[in-house]
Amino acid sequence: MDLYTPTGIIEIIKDAGFTFSKQYGQNFLINEAVVEKIADAAVPENRSEPIGCVEIGPGIGSLTAKLAERFDKVVSIEIDKRLIPILEKTLCGKENVRVFNEDALKVDFKSMLEKEFCGMSVSVCANLPYYITSEVIMRLLESGAEFDSLVLMMQKEVAQRLAASPGQAEYGSVSAAVNYYASVKKLFDVQAGSFMPRPKVTSTVIRLSPYNGKKPVVPTDERLFLRVIRASFAQRRKTLLNSLESFFKGEFKREKLLEALNKAGIDPGVRGETLTLEKIKELSEALF
Ligand code: SAM
Repeated sequence: MDLYTPTGIIEIIKDAGFTFSKQYGQNFLINEAVVEKIADAAVPENRSEPIGCVEIGPGIGSLTAKLAERFDKVVSIEIDKRLIPILEKTLCGKENVRVFNEDALKVDFKSMLEKEFCGMSVSVCANLPYYITSEVIMRLLESGAEFDSLVLMMQKEVAQRLAASPGQAEYGSVSAAVNYYASVKKLFDVQAGSFMPRPKVTSTVIRLSPYNGKKPVVPTDERLFLRVIRASFAQRRKTLLNSLESFFKGEFKREKLLEALNKAGIDPGVRGETLTLEKIKELSEALF
């Protein structure tokens, strides 16, 4: 079966009576060299045996097949049940792959790691469905599962936001939240011509390296800290004080917020996007 040419893919999906679903963000990779490059990037640098991989959204299995050649075990999570019989054919004979017909936004990754990988070092690799990129990333990072690394393809603009530093225009609540859990490295761009159907945007592959037990800041109340991140960026054109006030309405009065900002040594007139994680932590400690 030819998973890496337009004619091969058309044959596979025609045989199965499959049509692409926009709702599920289905843009399948057709460029074998790109698929190999993504799969290679997912293999841990200091490789220790055995290694496992979680894939979100295998589609017809193009990336899955390459991951299966590099990892001892691959678990792929696909929401679209129409793809399951196709995957059974395209991945036939790959004994180290398990496919689950589930929504990645509902999976308990921590218990999946315990049940499926029994102590292996596990990475995540995915050409993410673009409509839920941030939600999937946050779910993976917040799951409590200790991943070795996450090599993920997404829309170029989203990757730029995740890789941005405080003070840059692209920096936002997702950048801050992701940076709390992991360091972010941009790897390479992938042009629209490498997909079928062709998306309107350029894509970028990034690597997230989770801090796991060694986070850059340690807030007393993590939930409050993560809410302060969201509050700081809730209204981008407002000053930090106004943004916090509208987010925490009914919970913290303006005077209390001003007092906390003063205690943390933050000018209430700045914009949220200038705050470092350290400053956000100081603010959440003052509110705690
Ligand atoms: N990995 C394949 C490739 O690179 O050719 C397909 C990638 S395609 C961009 C995204 C895949 O994610 C599709 O197969 C889609 O059905 C699946 N998907 C969309 N939403 C999902 C969800 N919530 N949970 C699991 N899979 C999902």
